[in-house]
Amino acid sequence: MRDEPLRNLKGIGEKTEKLFAKVGVTTLRQLLHYYPREYDQYTAPVPLQNLRTGTKCAVQGRITHSPSVKGNTRKSVILLELTEGTARLQLTWFNMPFLRSTLKKGASYVFRGKVQEKSGRLVMEQPEIFTLGAYDEMISHLQPVYGLTKGLTNKMVVRAVRQIFEDRALEQEYLPEEIRRENGLCEINFAVEQIHFPDNMEMLRKARKRLVFDEFFFFLLAMRQLKERTEDIRNAFPIHAVWATEEVIENLPFPLTRAQMRVWNEIENDLKSTTRMARLVQGDVGSGKTVLAFLAMILTAENGYQSALMVPTEVLARQHYDSLCELLENNHLTDYRPRLLTGSTTAKEKREIYQELADGSCRMVIGTHALIQEKVQYQNLALVITDEQHRFGVRQRTALAEKGEPSNVLVMSATPIPRTLAIILYGDQSISVIDELPAKRLPIKNCVVNTGYRPNAYRFIQRQVDQGRQAYVICPMVEESEGMDAENVLDYAERLKQVLPDKICVRYLHGKMKPAEKNEIMEQFARNEIQVLVSTTVVEVGVNVPNATVMMVENAERFGLAQLHQLRGRVGRGEHQSYCIFVQGTSDEGTMKRLDILNHSNDGFYIANEDLKLRGSGDLLGTRQSGEMEFALADIFRDSEELVKASQSAAKLLAEDPELEEPGHELLQEALTEFAAFEEHDIGI
Ligand code: ADP
Ligand code: MG
Repeated sequence: MRDEPLRNLKGIGEKTEKLFAKVGVTTLRQLLHYYPREYDQYTAPVPLQNLRTGTKCAVQGRITHSPSVKGNTRKSVILLELTEGTARLQLTWFNMPFLRSTLKKGASYVFRGKVQEKSGRLVMEQPEIFTLGAYDEMISHLQPVYGLTKGLTNKMVVRAVRQIFEDRALEQEYLPEEIRRENGLCEINFAVEQIHFPDNMEMLRKARKRLVFDEFFFFLLAMRQLKERTEDIRNAFPIHAVWATEEVIENLPFPLTRAQMRVWNEIENDLKSTTRMARLVQGDVGSGKTVLAFLAMILTAENGYQSALMVPTEVLARQHYDSLCELLENNHLTDYRPRLLTGSTTAKEKREIYQELADGSCRMVIGTHALIQEKVQYQNLALVITDEQHRFGVRQRTALAEKGEPSNVLVMSATPIPRTLAIILYGDQSISVIDELPAKRLPIKNCVVNTGYRPNAYRFIQRQVDQGRQAYVICPMVEESEGMDAENVLDYAERLKQVLPDKICVRYLHGKMKPAEKNEIMEQFARNEIQVLVSTTVVEVGVNVPNATVMMVENAERFGLAQLHQLRGRVGRGEHQSYCIFVQGTSDEGTMKRLDILNHSNDGFYIANEDLKLRGSGDLLGTRQSGEMEFALADIFRDSEELVKASQSAAKLLAEDPELEEPGHELLQEALTEFAAFEEHDIGI
């Protein structure tokens, strides 16, 4: 498909285009790959006496008398009561006065929404309204639910995507016939259409299988090609062991664990060797990876070279920068001039930093993507470290390493993946595992509760704050989103401010905020000027505030266990007892059982595996394990089978045609180039 701007679609003007841009969609191709977050299954209407609170369902009813309207035109409420024998359900709509004339007396409709109990009666707020015929039509299909932003409705996305399928020539199949046959994969256009508008569960499964395969396949092809290019490169930066690192280790306020010591030796040996280092360090949250990165930077600086540490968020960059400065000062290592370089560094400061990096006076730099901008030139960049690796794509992995002579590369990841999968995904690197947590940590206390427990949780948080501690509250969404039945950061923070006493400062944090704002909030939280931080999973990545002792997660059922485990890793970092409260928004047995695994283990690896076992690999609509790697659909746990297959196919293909230049592979090569380009845009959570 030739790519076109979104406005080529009917009904999409400048304003709508801007809304789409907010969710990262500016071209038709991006829209095609803007897959639904989940699917709504419209089920047959339920009799009123069978309604259960807390569930979303449809009811059918005849309008016996006109709905009543309360309030004025600006703030109106429309009320309608349905009855069936003794059972009653109240329907309410806010600020939609026009409904009064839409809902015709004597006619029957289907209403669909969440059943709630309010002052002893069952109500449905803002239910969707369908004619009987229209609802029948909906029942037969799974309805896509897209990620939205304020002003962008699900209907708008559906309409736009439908248009592409209606009147445009789509992609040509790029996967060689043989690969498709061997792996039982459907055709690409079929897959893309069915992922948006599945005919049924079976078709959705087929579509997903194909698209997941493609994601892995391209990722692996890109990686393999990279590996060819980078294998056994001479180490251009001879490094010798120095006393400074020994001293720093001696002076740490804690002894390194045996695992940390072992991995540090591996890193040191790599750096001293004659071939370039390419090493992945895996270690569960809290296993102490950061200090190893700092040691490697110190060793490099002592040998006269530069090193750069790249992290996925500004908040994390600043934290690391502060800890590095502290470590250096404590050890009187003052002449490396460490610098912090992020998107919100001022232009003037940036110029200074570029200068210092170019002339070599700055030997350590920590930052975000800003580190790989073209303008940045290094004098002798010998070591590149990326922390929380999974948030970066293939291209970012290499871009930094390609600045000047090939640098030594160290990546740090907390994603607990089995070794066999790690070898596939990180085949270009040696792997070290920190398989031990520092001793003397109090185990975190966990509980899994339902929403009825909230008042207790808030009192608990209040008591913790009274004792000087702090709390995180995590919500899955940034803002209210139509059709998405989950807590959002903005509304939740407002509600919490009402509930908690004024002296407790409640603020929010999410990925769509400006970087400077995020920093400010995170710093205030680190200084305990904010006591309760309502946030999306942006805090999942590496943030360290040891005084925070409560982690409350709303809609815990929406997160993969591995991700919940990462979130839990944000507390229990200091001397105080820490607590995790997982609130589930659904009253589903399966969810309870799944979340319960977290009660029994603190081992991320074990947790992810148990989660997978429990859900079975057939579960496609389940929550993703975590945001590891920027795959749109694929989940390395759930789709591990597909990953292995894709890896075999990629190996075979490259053995036959390493440059993908044989006839029949042109389209594949093109698609691969596109994949690499597509990977670059990153998504705010
Ligand atoms: P992660 O592996 O999740 O990145 P960090 O490097 O952020 O973990 O370390 C978590 C906390 O543990 C930090 O406060 C760090 O200072 C501390 N820490 C690291 N190593 C040890 C150790 N050997 N003993 C005690 N505390 C440690
Ligand atoms: Mg970390």
